Amino acid sequence: STPFIYFITPTHFRAAQKADLTRLSYTLSHVPNLHWIVVEDSDSLTSSVAEILKRSRLPHTHLNARTPSDQKMKYTDPNWTLPRGVEQRNAALLWIQNQLSGVGSGVVYFGDDDNTYDLRIFEEMRKVDNAGVWPVGIVGGMFVETPVLADNGSIISFNSIWKPDRPFPIDMAAFAVNVTLILSHPNALFSFDVPRGYQESTFLENLGINRLNMEPLAEKCTKVYVWHTRTEKSKLSKGMVEKLTKKTGFN
Ligand code: UDP
Ligand code: MN
Repeated sequence: STPFIYFITPTHFRAAQKADLTRLSYTLSHVPNLHWIVVEDSDSLTSSVAEILKRSRLPHTHLNARTPSDQKMKYTDPNWTLPRGVEQRNAALLWIQNQLSGVGSGVVYFGDDDNTYDLRIFEEMRKVDNAGVWPVGIVGGMFVETPVLADNGSIISFNSIWKPDRPFPIDMAAFAVNVTLILSHPNALFSFDVPRGYQESTFLENLGINRLNMEPLAEKCTKVYVWHTRTEKSKLSKGMVEKLTKKTGFN
């Protein structure tokens, strides 16, 4: 049978949130056997996100987990100053640990709300036994960040130029892991304490992944099926920024 994909999306309030989630829901609605776990960075669930989930007709779970105030970026901060999605991805991982113990098959993927997904990436994910990896477009200062393979198909290195000395110099969108791995490593979580750029590496290492047991996919990493596109921060009037600040409680 077709393994289920557990697609984890952290999401936070901003002008383009509904637009990005609507577009993503239309992509995901083409994918069979996909369970969408949406985790809002908020104190409570919002009806606008609930509506998008309902309209998607996808199997889904709607959660919320607010980023602690001292870890939250200000509206005007450049977005790389603090890690994003930590609290939310962890809430989804805990949900998986609690709800899917004994499920035995399935794959977990972290899919941000503003990335672009070719439907072929989902069929690649389903092949994952342990941890799969593939190229990602428009990230790390490159058109494509990708593992570099030997002729025999094993991973020799990565072509990354941004912090290339990381154990896994890859983006969150570049990998998926089997749900059994999540269940057997309940302490593998994201953290605010890891250096910038090391979320992926720390998580994968905590799951016992290394370059040898990682599975290169997408036609031996020759195809780009996911892009780290980023929605431009909306240019808002001063009044609108104040309104947004009031609504989110962040400044
Ligand atoms: N996100 C969040 N809280 C925040 C900032 C971001 O939940 O305070 C979510 C966001 O909606 C997205 C993911 O975390 O799904 C990654 O954030 P973003 O796209 O801003 O990061 P980037 O792509 O620039 O690394
Ligand atoms: Mn993004």
